[in-house]
Amino acid sequence: MRTTRAAAALALPALVLPLTVAAPAAGADPVPGGPWVCENQPINLGGLTSNAELAATLDKLAEHHPDTVEVTEIGRSVEGRPLESVTVGDGPRTLLILTQVHGDEPLGTEAVLDLLRRAAGNSPAAEALRDGVTLVAVPRINPDGWERYQDRDFADGLDPRRNSNDIDLNRTFGPTDIDLSLAPEAVAVQSLVEEVDPDLVLDFHHQVSYTAEGSDDLVTMSTMWGTHPDVAPAVADDARRAVTVIGDSLAGNGHATVTLYPRSDTATTARNGLSLDGYPTVLVEQRGQQDVGQKGHGALVREALVSMQAVAESLADGSFDAVDPTAADLLPERGDRVRGTC
Ligand SMILES: [Zn+2]
Repeated sequence: MRTTRAAAALALPALVLPLTVAAPAAGADPVPGGPWVCENQPINLGGLTSNAELAATLDKLAEHHPDTVEVTEIGRSVEGRPLESVTVGDGPRTLLILTQVHGDEPLGTEAVLDLLRRAAGNSPAAEALRDGVTLVAVPRINPDGWERYQDRDFADGLDPRRNSNDIDLNRTFGPTDIDLSLAPEAVAVQSLVEEVDPDLVLDFHHQVSYTAEGSDDLVTMSTMWGTHPDVAPAVADDARRAVTVIGDSLAGNGHATVTLYPRSDTATTARNGLSLDGYPTVLVEQRGQQDVGQKGHGALVREALVSMQAVAESLADGSFDAVDPTAADLLPERGDRVRGTC
């Protein structure tokens, strides 16, 4: 079912050509934990979901599953692109998944679209999931930044991470002093949070290349709960349960190396800001296409999907509540940055 979707304000390009990212310095060290595609190799950003394709995908989901999928326009970006939430299921626990708050960090979007398709399906597992959890996703918070990044259109000098008013949307939470009239994307997301009152929020991002502490393995995912000192312990503990579930879900995956993310206290990120507001929120930072190249995309999208699905299933079947939050501390810390991984 589609609820309040309005006509698109902009005519969005339907075709995106393969493009090549800028080349980094040559002659770098061998890659630990490879093989990885280097960032100076061509990356076909057209293989990722464009804004037009996202709208078409959500239309198709709502059309094919009118009784189980609800797509709602929750606002518009600075440039007028629709911001949409997708709801699947009506279980008593609510999981909110946010992706691509930074426009150049697209892999969580690919994963959550896959999760939504699976959750909307007719299998007994999908039905059980929908009975146990209300899954809400905003599968691209910064469509304007992604448009700039996917088109490699940097002529206006705007960083594709940021919105089109040059705001970092991941500094608009909690006690921010940013003028939110410049960040309609943030207003839309925060209104949605208040409306759906999630039991848990997962916020997917990309980071560059790091080793895990005490290892040469390249980190594929780092994750952390709200660590600001004013976050209520029960709120932090629920997010730590989710971090534990994520670590366990990927423990046997030979392509995944999961660590904790550094514990910054910045109050205005989603991780800390939403946690301060009482919503347990987990930051998930994956190694992204900036350092991996397109051949790494498949494994990273699967990694994100496995982590999202594990958390959703644990909430749905109630096993989440029995998870020991202190087990999250057993994940390794993130180690040193690895530069020039080609
Ligand atoms: Zn980010």
